[in-house]
Amino acid sequence: MQTLPSYLNGQWFMPSGSTLPVYNPANASIIAELTLGNASDAHQAIQAAKQAFPAYAQTTLAERIGYLEALRTAYARRRQDLADAIRLEMGAPAQFALNAQAESGLAHFDVHLKALREFAFEYRVNQSQIVHEPIGVVALITPWNWPMNQLVVKVLPALAAGCTMIVKPSEIAPLSAQIFAEVVDEIGLPPGVFNLLHGDGEGVGQALSRHPEVAMVSFTGSMRAGVAISKAAADTVKRVSLELGGKSPNLILRDADLPKAITQAVNYCMSNSGQSCDAPSRLYVPLEHYAEALQQAKLAALALKVGDPQAADTDLGPVVSALQYERIQQWIQIGIDEGASLVCGGLGKPAGLEQGYYVKTTVFGDVRQDMRIAREEIFGPVLVILPYQDEEELIQLANDSDYGLSAYISSADPQHAARIARRLRAGQVQLNYPEWDLYAPFGGYKQSGNGREYAQWGLQDFLETKAIIGYPH
Ligand code: NAD
Repeated sequence: MQTLPSYLNGQWFMPSGSTLPVYNPANASIIAELTLGNASDAHQAIQAAKQAFPAYAQTTLAERIGYLEALRTAYARRRQDLADAIRLEMGAPAQFALNAQAESGLAHFDVHLKALREFAFEYRVNQSQIVHEPIGVVALITPWNWPMNQLVVKVLPALAAGCTMIVKPSEIAPLSAQIFAEVVDEIGLPPGVFNLLHGDGEGVGQALSRHPEVAMVSFTGSMRAGVAISKAAADTVKRVSLELGGKSPNLILRDADLPKAITQAVNYCMSNSGQSCDAPSRLYVPLEHYAEALQQAKLAALALKVGDPQAADTDLGPVVSALQYERIQQWIQIGIDEGASLVCGGLGKPAGLEQGYYVKTTVFGDVRQDMRIAREEIFGPVLVILPYQDEEELIQLANDSDYGLSAYISSADPQHAARIARRLRAGQVQLNYPEWDLYAPFGGYKQSGNGREYAQWGLQDFLETKAIIGYPH
């Protein structure tokens, strides 16, 4: 059994805390174990990052570009290993793990290298020189659902900015982060610039958030943890960048090709077994097409094959853990108790898949806006479908949410869709399912968070702004 070490000050290191098993959600077997760090390990990692900061902050642009390029090459060599790790730790189907999960990490290198080359670190305003400098030692706390994507979109801009860091990956899916640390180790970054400390939220997560020598926490995960981190960080007035959850609305306009739009809506909601923060999990269709939309959604949901992540024809693997499985079952029960009707799916595991944490693709009809299943994040392959009468009502319903991460619009007329997009309170609005645009900022309005990741927006998050007034010409 592999025990995953942490990585501190350029050395592999075994924290002294208790061990935690890592499970393969496809069959509930134990595949590795972690030794959890504690507050004293966190302090040690912060001291390593603090010592490395002055020199790393002074590196030239060319040196930092060199590090990112070397990291990109080393990452690309381990792409298959990363994909295998992601399949094992969170159940992503093999091809999805390789071509979406591991690949997204690689694509972010190009985006961040471009941002770094083009970023205006210095410019003049009136009689002042404006200088952007790295904020300092940063703590990067990441979730399990897109384990590489979420880690890379923090590590790359932090490195690009000149920050030194402690990464705390999810304790539920730490295998790919471990490989990422091996990739970093290969390229010979100065010791202490990149540290990875395994641990849980209550232990390492809280210790990092509270610590006076951490200048910023960048967090992706649940609202619950985001609030706990913000509170722990408040006493030392550190910057906290939050990427939280969502209940993203999907608007099917009257002029859309209904069968196509509904099929895409189901596929996007269920992708990654519904475990994406920006999943379009709240679908609105014109009232007169409601019955037809439910039938189409049922067809599309049942066409998705739930199964072993290693099988080539699997569309959806299991959900990440026993806990996540139980939470989703509770949500399905809540939907039934609230009076929504099951169009397909429902409680229990799909036939023949009793061993792992598999969930039936589930669609609810007869959903009202005030039901909890229409308002709260379920984070599983569960879609709720609601009717609307006219576009004013549609916009009001779409915006009637505590969240504001993403929104989706289907229409035969892109101008029509674009007009509606301007009225939605969300950080991203996707028109007719375009390609994933990693050059556009990602982040939420309202309780979906306060940060923006990707490209120059990610880089900006890790920088301070200094004005040198009276600066000589
Ligand atoms: P989580 O909040 O339970 O855990 C995320 C990370 O935070 C883990 O590393 C965990 O150990 C740590 N953590 C947990 N409690 C903590 C605490 N009290 N203090 C400090 N750290 C703590 O989330 P999860 O279950 O891993 O991920 C699912 C959630 O993440 C969903 O709500 C999803 O919407 C959200 N998410 C958001 C985005 C985004 O970009 N907006 C992307 C992916 C996931």
